[in-house]
Order: sequence, then C-alpha cells, then structure tokens
Amino acid sequence: MTELNLLKIPSENEYLNCIRCGLCLAVCPTYREYLDETASPRGRVALARKGLEGELELSSNLIEQMYACFACMACNDACPVGIHPADLAIEMRFVQEQIKPAAWKEKLFGGLIGRPAKMELATLPLRIYEAIGLRKLVYALAIRRLFSSQLRDMEAMLPHQPTRPLRQVLPLETKAVGETRYRVGFFLGCAQSLMFSEESAATVRVLARNGCTIITPKETVCCGMPAAGYGRQDLVEKHAKQNIALFEKVDVDTIITDCATCGSKLKEYGEILAHVPDWAERSAAFSTKVQDISQFLMSIPLEKPTGRIDARVTYHDPCHLKRAQGIWKEPRNLLKMIAGLEFIEMPESDWCCGSAGSQLITHYETSTRVMDRKVENIRSTRAEIVSSGCPGCQMQIASGIRRNNLAIEVVHPVQLLDRAYHNLEGDEWKKD
Ligand code: SF4
Ligand code: SF4
Repeated sequence: MTELNLLKIPSENEYLNCIRCGLCLAVCPTYREYLDETASPRGRVALARKGLEGELELSSNLIEQMYACFACMACNDACPVGIHPADLAIEMRFVQEQIKPAAWKEKLFGGLIGRPAKMELATLPLRIYEAIGLRKLVYALAIRRLFSSQLRDMEAMLPHQPTRPLRQVLPLETKAVGETRYRVGFFLGCAQSLMFSEESAATVRVLARNGCTIITPKETVCCGMPAAGYGRQDLVEKHAKQNIALFEKVDVDTIITDCATCGSKLKEYGEILAHVPDWAERSAAFSTKVQDISQFLMSIPLEKPTGRIDARVTYHDPCHLKRAQGIWKEPRNLLKMIAGLEFIEMPESDWCCGSAGSQLITHYETSTRVMDRKVENIRSTRAEIVSSGCPGCQMQIASGIRRNNLAIEVVHPVQLLDRAYHNLEGDEWKKD
C-alpha cells in the first residue's frame, strides 16, 4: 500500500477479499439505474482498493463515486464474503477529508448542524413561508411551475411546518398517564424537532399513554449521521460525546428515538468510541439503551387502540431501520394493531427511496430515478397512506408522490397509532 499518513484508513481486509462475484450488483440502486460498473458496489470496492494502494490517484472523480453511493447497505447484506462496500464508500470520504479537508464542512456540520439554536434560526424562513400562507399561495397559483424541476421537488419534500420547533415546546419531563411503569429518555432528532414535530409530539403522547414518564434533554445535538456522510468522522465523535454526557445526567433505562437514522447512529456510538479510553464503556452503555420507538412499543404490553382508520396502508422500510438495526417486523405489527387499516405489502419495500440524506440536492438525476421507482411500487398497492419511520425517507417519498401527481399521505407508524388512540382523522392533526 502507498504511504497514506492518516489517522484512519480502511483495513485491507475491507476490500482485498472481494472475489468479484457480482452478487452485490443486483441489489444496488445506483448500478440498477445506469448498469455502469463504476456505479456499483463491486466497482466502488475496486476503486477504493486502487486508490488506497496508490494505483490510482485519490482524485475528485474517484471520490465522487463514493459520494454517489446512497449508503443504503443493500450490498453489505448481499456480499457472501463479508465485504461492506457501503461502509467502505463512507470511509473513503473520511480518507479524502483527512488529506484535503473542506472548510465548508466544518462550518456546516460543526458550526450549524451541531448547534440546535442556530439550526432553529436557519430554518425560521421555512416556518414563516408556511405560517404567513405563502406556501398555500405558491400551490394555489401554481407558482411552482415556474421553478426548475429540482427546486420543485425540493420544495415538495417539505412537510407541514410547525409554528415552533418541538424542542422549544416539549417539557423536560412528560409524566406518564396514570402510574409510571417505565422511565425513558427521548432523543429528539434535529429533523424531528424542526420539521416533523407533529410526529414526535405523537411519539411522546403514545409513550405517556403506555405508562412511560419521558425525559427529553433539550441540549442534544445532531446524532452525527450527516457529518459521517460527508467524511467528518471527527465531528461524529464530538457529537456522540455531547449526547452521551447529556443522557448520563438523567436516570433512564431506555433511550428512545422515532428517527430511524438517528437510531442507527446512536446505536453505533459504542463502536465509534471504542478506541477512546475514557469513552469506551460510557458509549457502549449508552448504545445498549437505545431503541427505536417501534422496537420499544412492541416489547411492552401495549394498549390496543379502540379508534379505527379506514384506509389502505403500505410501509416503506428505511435502510437505517431495516438494514442497520434489523427492525422491520415491529412497525408492520404496530400498523396491524389498528382496526380498519388494510395493510398491503409493497413490492421492493426495502429498496432505497433515493434520499440518502441529501442526494436529491447533490445527485438529483439518480435520486429522482430511484424515487420514481419507489413511487411506482407504492402506486401499485393502491394505498392511500404510506408509512415509514425515517424523516429523510418521508421527505423523499412525499416529494415523489407530488412529482407524480398522486394523493397519498406519508406518515410515521406511531402517528397512525396516536390517531387511532384518539379516534381522529388525519386532517385534524395537521393543525399545529
Ligand atoms: S458481493 Fe462482495 S465479493 Fe461479490 S463482487 Fe460484491 S463486494 Fe465483491
Ligand atoms: S450502499 Fe447501496 S448504493 Fe451504495 S454501493 Fe451499496 S447497494 Fe449501491
């Protein structure tokens, strides 16, 4: 291997063992769209190997293929010899950052995304856009037609905006309805607080109704997934330490999140900080407490809702829930508890939706191709509701649904459970 004087590079067995069998090609969304070897897991492994061994320069073209990967992890699961091309693509981004750090990433992930108050300020224009009725006007007057297709799709990603971020509204402690049977921590993710506050408010209501007293520390920072996606592993470690230290101050046995992406990263903290002497035990203790909301709810004696929702529903598996956490039965079982809901399994329910955080912005064409494939699968079920427990997936799917002129509601499973508990129709919850 060429001399790369770096703190961290992928180990050789992460790429040397590839037998080039091609089994990963069939499951890769980026390869499926272009049938181009360099856009495949096998191609990315070969590129990483050549780059790390010095046969190819670690050029921007080579690294671009790593950024074009959705990190959906389908290839990790398919590989018979244990190569993890998805992880390798992320690690290569970190390699590049160590060689050639980009200043904007420090500003974005350290200075903005890692600071909740600044994020709230930065997203204020979106809340104003909705609160003063501008968004309604944009739709009513068909102003969106004047936008470029990418801007139109990005606008369509926006969920109904809350008047205030949930972080500012939710108390530190929410008491259980009746006797406290569980004392749980709630990790309120950035997207959940800023964009999907109705969902997380529903999560807290459902938990309280099921005997949980919920502690929501307000100073949590980003889970670290966006920084990891852009090669800033150092910032992931920083965010992880901040979040661990916060939850050490509260007496809870379980830490719940209703964001699949946050959950997968929080569960990794133990591994991420395993090499840091003072943090190895603390991070492992933290990660073992983390549970996705559907995982937790299906592990307790859950109150059966008495309300009905008469609709056809289908479910999309977020990669960060099914592939990263092995959770796929629980959200389905939650939905199946609700009277009136007719559950229809969609084809390719665990095929990536094309979001991968920011691919609609950075790799628009591929992202929309993959998104349209997902929407076609949703359409084939004739569902009126598509449910999924990841804000990134929800935004992507909502955009795809609007783009294809469909009228399908996109919601988190826990929100449907909350509605069934309160016997309310969807629109009643849309009032903030
Ligand atoms: S499935 Fe694994 S071994 Fe086979 S080509 Fe893909 S990465 Fe290489
Ligand atoms: S993570 Fe997904 S997009 Fe990336 S190489 Fe693997 S299958 Fe393809």
